[in-house]
Amino acid sequence: MIEVNKLGKSFGDLVVFRDIDLHIRSGEIVVLVGPSGSGKSTLLRCLNGLEVPDEGSIRVGDATWNASMDASAKKEAVRHIRTLTGMVFQSFNLFPHMTALENVIMAPTIVKKRSKAQAVETGESLLAKVGLLNKKNEYPSRLSGGQQQRVAIARALAMQPQIMLFDEPTSALDPELTGEVLSVMKQLATEGMTMIVVTHEMKFAREVANRIIFMSDGKIQEEGSPDQFFVQPQTERARKFLRQLA
Ligand code: ATP
Ligand code: MG
Repeated sequence: MIEVNKLGKSFGDLVVFRDIDLHIRSGEIVVLVGPSGSGKSTLLRCLNGLEVPDEGSIRVGDATWNASMDASAKKEAVRHIRTLTGMVFQSFNLFPHMTALENVIMAPTIVKKRSKAQAVETGESLLAKVGLLNKKNEYPSRLSGGQQQRVAIARALAMQPQIMLFDEPTSALDPELTGEVLSVMKQLATEGMTMIVVTHEMKFAREVANRIIFMSDGKIQEEGSPDQFFVQPQTERARKFLRQLA
């Protein structure tokens, strides 16, 4: 589903990561953890074309990007990869001048050239899925943070992505609103969606992840099942990270 080889990304002199290899199977739920600044967001952003890596290759479904392609082939590859990946950010990023439903149907009508009626039908079913059909005509300013984030998830799903990337989707939410977003994500996981999730919600990670990947100092330091990672971390870096969470 996703295959990343020897991926490297720097900002000027700062090497964020190097030699990242990652293989994610269809339906797999991977939780990505690591200290602040370890490159988790940058890696997700590379996986959906918001940042351009310097080295290596990325394959998502049948779309491939690699650092040695020429500029126009890279551009086309990024466009293709973006259509296959949905991303949800910490800040909900809804369009403030559009209702919940308009937010959800915008990309499918413009990018996928769906008819309005078709997009509305799908959009309403996605809002129902995240429990917000009754809010379809509300503007984001009249929705709670948790509701806005659920609309953002519905909006990402509207493009029918093959993989969903979540970058700290609940970090900006009051604790009582976190649960409703996590339960939508759990639901997606049980339906077989392939997901990479950056989160500090370790309870979610333990319950839902098939695999935990621990990044630090520009590398994947270790990976394993939640039981392996949380109960018997292999590296001192990971032990230190887990102690700081406790
Ligand atoms: P956090 O847990 O705090 O979200 P993170 O693991 O997501 O951290 P990144 O946001 O990927 O970390 O950042 C990795 C490093 O790259 C940091 O040192 C950051 O300052 C740097 N960085 C990120 N984006 C840029 C940018 N656009 N320009 C320059 N440096 C950047
Ligand atoms: Mg981040």
